[in-house]
Amino acid sequence: MKLLEMNHIKKDFDGVQVIKDISLSVEQGEILAIIGPSGSGKSTLLRCATMLETISDGEILYLGKKAAWIENGKPVFPKKEERKEIQSCFGLVFQNFNLFPHFSVMKNITDAPIKVQKRKKEEVYKEAKELLKKMGLEDKADAYPYQLSGGQQQRVSIARALAMKPKMLFFDEPTSALDPELTGEILKVIKSLASEHMTMVIVTHEMNFARKVADKIIFMDKGVIAEEGTPEEVFASDNARMKEFLGKLA
Ligand code: ADP
Ligand code: MG
Repeated sequence: MKLLEMNHIKKDFDGVQVIKDISLSVEQGEILAIIGPSGSGKSTLLRCATMLETISDGEILYLGKKAAWIENGKPVFPKKEERKEIQSCFGLVFQNFNLFPHFSVMKNITDAPIKVQKRKKEEVYKEAKELLKKMGLEDKADAYPYQLSGGQQQRVSIARALAMKPKMLFFDEPTSALDPELTGEILKVIKSLASEHMTMVIVTHEMNFARKVADKIIFMDKGVIAEEGTPEEVFASDNARMKEFLGKLA
């Protein structure tokens, strides 16, 4: 079953096309890594996929239900209830953590499940404690984001995304704001989610990581998919831009 389908997506900002006819799909349990140079449109693609941004053309579906499309030349999202249902399919983890600075760790994690999903407070708190334990942060429930390292903040934001019980997670360069020694702890968490068969789309510059955990890799360049396939296929590719990109990282 296809969890996510993006068909012929285009996105322009003020007449400049930054996504040029991209199609991709993600199956239940699949891990897709998206790599590519800065400015190639990776974040924009994730923002379109997660309905934070309108599309300029094409359509997006979750479990076969339309999440975004074009009608009479204008971008459309489903109506409120259906939109909420579709949005509950996915969680998003940002590069800069995006925690609420004035909320404790516990409140950061429990606020949306209680307010948006209207779930029982006791149940949500219990699950949040389990998530914190899983993230190795059981002693940080009452801390505020500024009291935590970047790696800890990012683990809180992963816990916050998981607290909504999404069917899939999107990560936009989850380690690029972190020092190298903190990067490993986040990659470890993502690996453990992979071993639980969490469906994930991960934009990353960590090539070894992408190679190891991804089922499929997409290399984006200037708004198009320049190469895609299994890690073996993509890393063995003769694509000149891909080789140049990998060379620059080395
Ligand atoms: P990446 O994540 O691969 O670095 P982005 O998706 O952030 O790339 O950006 C792709 C292109 O779109 C860049 O040229 C960027 O300047 C442009 N862009 C992104 N967001 C906006 C915006 N809100 N308004 C105008 N241009 C944007
Ligand atoms: Mg980006």
